[in-house]
Amino acid sequence: MSEELHPREAEGIVNPVVRAPDDESERGQDGRRLDHAEGTSKPIKAPAQREPQPRGAKIRGDRPIDQGEAAERFLAAPLHAAAHDERLWDLRRKRDTAAHGIPEWEELRELASQIKQHTLSNLDTYLEQFEAAARANGVHVHWARDGADHNRIVLGILRDHGARTLVKSKSMLTEECGFRHFMEGEGVEIIETDLGERIQQLDNEEPSHVVVPAAHKTRFDVAEVFARTLGTDPDNDDAHYLAESQRETTRPYILNADAGLTGCNFAVAETGTVVTCTNEGNADLSGNVPKLQIHSIGIEKLIPRVEHLGVFLRILARSALGSPITQYTSHFRGPRAGTEMHYVLVDNGRAARLGMEEFWTSLKCIRCGACMNTCPVYRRSGGLSYGATYAGPIGLIIDPTFNKRKYSTLPFSSTMNGSCTNVCPVKINIHEQIFAWRKVLAEEHQIPMLKQGMMKAAGAVLSRPAAYRAAIGAADSALKVLPRFAVYNPLNTWGKKREMPDAPRQSFHAWYRENRMKGGAK
Ligand code: SF4
Repeated sequence: MSEELHPREAEGIVNPVVRAPDDESERGQDGRRLDHAEGTSKPIKAPAQREPQPRGAKIRGDRPIDQGEAAERFLAAPLHAAAHDERLWDLRRKRDTAAHGIPEWEELRELASQIKQHTLSNLDTYLEQFEAAARANGVHVHWARDGADHNRIVLGILRDHGARTLVKSKSMLTEECGFRHFMEGEGVEIIETDLGERIQQLDNEEPSHVVVPAAHKTRFDVAEVFARTLGTDPDNDDAHYLAESQRETTRPYILNADAGLTGCNFAVAETGTVVTCTNEGNADLSGNVPKLQIHSIGIEKLIPRVEHLGVFLRILARSALGSPITQYTSHFRGPRAGTEMHYVLVDNGRAARLGMEEFWTSLKCIRCGACMNTCPVYRRSGGLSYGATYAGPIGLIIDPTFNKRKYSTLPFSSTMNGSCTNVCPVKINIHEQIFAWRKVLAEEHQIPMLKQGMMKAAGAVLSRPAAYRAAIGAADSALKVLPRFAVYNPLNTWGKKREMPDAPRQSFHAWYRENRMKGGAK
């Protein structure tokens, strides 16, 4: 670690004390280091060397996202690919332990699913109840049709108060709306206060995971980003040092911001309350410190009563991080004396999704990220390879509802193993909906011509037993005799990262005929 004072330290921006990796104040009563970052508390095997961070999918307007190409680049960075896989699998294991730790787990899942089903089936009633309760509490309520409407409304609120700086906590809804970029274009300074989200903001990237936005980065990447943007020591990649540096540089913004904005985990209809769950307390700070307070709420976040929180709070943190509850569960109900509070209720395609027979239950999602952590495609390709606000299994369902052409490739980025459905705390039939999207996209010709042709050919072969058996026989023979370069050609995407299986001596069908159909058996 460099002894020289960094120029930003000389300005008092980064406290030199936090540079000490053995800071005793960072220890708990048992003498162990305190864990800061959510979900990364397990010491992930530190890669021995550094490697450049792979970037996400290339966005070319509305052209279909090439998730496979971005995944290939992610996999070509072995240290990142291994760390990402290990980190998320660790979350999956913690989720399993936490879920198995309470006998009523399946009952809670069923209850949560039914509460959401009921609420979504009566959404108009609950939205009106929520609005009336919020207004009675002194909250200003706004309705936004889409992302652009949301951004305009928030900008109007800020302009009415002459606000130029806004601190915000993590909100996937605002990511959907392109909020940060819009506001920066309007001259409003936005500061993300969640650690992972701040890392992504400083690196000019979108979040790659709904709970752990910078899950695809190694601590070397974070050290590089912070050194470049906050002036920290580029050689110090200690997670505590990095987290503390971020906190210290963000705190002055929170104390001086003109306005604060949070997302919403649950909106309670009977009380008009917005509930946020964080592990850093940054939603409390973003919401409570500035005098102007705004909460952006997706209309699907409604639950009828406060007692229902007892179900959702128990499943959310366990599913997301394997912890019994998040460190902070904040209830925002009305403005404090001398402050103003606004709710912006956002549709942005949700009402249309509610009308989609096969996909409407995706609105039950509580954004826990469990389906991502368990998905082998997500874990090995990184969230940014999807080129969309929502990555992983739930993203494959939601993203095409925003733009069918652009996200037409995503429902094919799944092995269909059903693990996502098994872990989903609100029992969304995720893999079945992914399959349903494939059918819709094929029927609407939203898949590449080559794939269409291959699927047609495969359909023709699979529907004729004799043709199928002949094709299998020919493929087995070819595998035995063809030279390697002919089998592992660019058309064989399966062979890019895998060895093809050895051709069996005999097909199952031939074996069955020989051993089970003797003597006239059919
Ligand atoms: S679909 Fe289910 S598992 Fe996936 S993020 Fe939503 S609630 Fe969690």
